[in-house]
Amino acid sequence: MVGPGPLGVTARDTWLELPEDTGFGIANLPLGVFSTAGRPPRTGIAIGRHVLDLGGLTGDPVHSTGSLNAFMALGPGAWRGLREQVTDRLTDERYRARIEPHLIPRAGVRLHLPIAVADYVDFYSSEQHAVNVGRIFRPGSPPLTPNWKHLPIGYHGRAGTVDVSGTPVLRPCGQREGPDGEPIFGPSTRLDFEAELGFVVGAPSEPGRPVPVGAFPDHVFGVCLLNDWSARDLQAWEYVPLGPFLGKSFRTSISPWVVPLAALEEARVRPPVRDPRPLPYLRDDEDPWGLDITLEVRLGGETVSRPPAAGLYWTAAQQLAHLTVNGANLRTGDLYGSGTVSGPERNQRGSLLELSWGGTDPLTLADGSARTFLEDGDVVTLTASAPGPGGTRVGFGEVTGQVLPARCCQ
Ligand code: CA
Repeated sequence: MVGPGPLGVTARDTWLELPEDTGFGIANLPLGVFSTAGRPPRTGIAIGRHVLDLGGLTGDPVHSTGSLNAFMALGPGAWRGLREQVTDRLTDERYRARIEPHLIPRAGVRLHLPIAVADYVDFYSSEQHAVNVGRIFRPGSPPLTPNWKHLPIGYHGRAGTVDVSGTPVLRPCGQREGPDGEPIFGPSTRLDFEAELGFVVGAPSEPGRPVPVGAFPDHVFGVCLLNDWSARDLQAWEYVPLGPFLGKSFRTSISPWVVPLAALEEARVRPPVRDPRPLPYLRDDEDPWGLDITLEVRLGGETVSRPPAAGLYWTAAQQLAHLTVNGANLRTGDLYGSGTVSGPERNQRGSLLELSWGGTDPLTLADGSARTFLEDGDVVTLTASAPGPGGTRVGFGEVTGQVLPARCCQ
């Protein structure tokens, strides 16, 4: 059994030559679905600049289905077993000749949507984000609604429009409020991104049996990056009283690699103090799941924000407990977003809505151009990293998307 030594995993005797600064080191082992020319999509693990072809290596049909769902449904024992097996193979020189034929340069593969998304839920768990949005959307009212500190607010989104990084984002059309209070139909003029983490449910739960906070790692397989593209003008006109609808459902983008929870042990931190104390089913004092993951938002290649997920008020474990407390069961492939991650500083805000303060304070880019909201052609890329063992970093890859002109109103 190979374990992290005093110098951490970088000191492990892996026979792989890994780039010094790789976020896909031996302690990460994120899973995704890839294909090469003429071969169907199959499951792989990102390691350094390569993909380890699990379908080819193991011959196990569970890794040749074109999504992670079949493997994730096997549950935490199988997740642990695979992780131990792969760690063993990549650190023991005796396996080198057998493994090397299954290492494929990542630059030459196509990455696919890693999961068949069952249900998609998005939360609203960054206090700073909720306060900013409250001030922008409801000036003169208390920025947080009275329920905000008692439950993780969320809504059910549209699973069928979740797609993988690289999928173009067509500017949506819809109704927005005109200057005279009458609706106008047309392309959104306030298209935005939201920098979020996505949590992927692997193991299902039974109807009528809420998942307690402590059972989070028994059900959630891992974490990806998520961009909840948002049309603020559509959203502002439609969201009262039932919440987001068409302003969000046109597209959600996720990263191709799902980082296992097991890779994030070093990233666990205590979340902020919750005051008032939440109801018993949301209490997590004994086993909190704050995650010290720092996101980075790039607009056209320029970093415009570094939102810190460690400050999220509600953790993913509390979100899961809330999501199931009414007896709703989980299915393999369920995906839920953390909500936009925003920190207290301007350069930690996770949306253009906040960065440009509702469009009133444009963001100036290095090339001299200014943005209130996204323009056609803009490319938004999210990346993230978290502390790993022995001073290493755990990377998440990226989720990127380019905005294309609206097609729906011609
Ligand atoms: Ca969101």
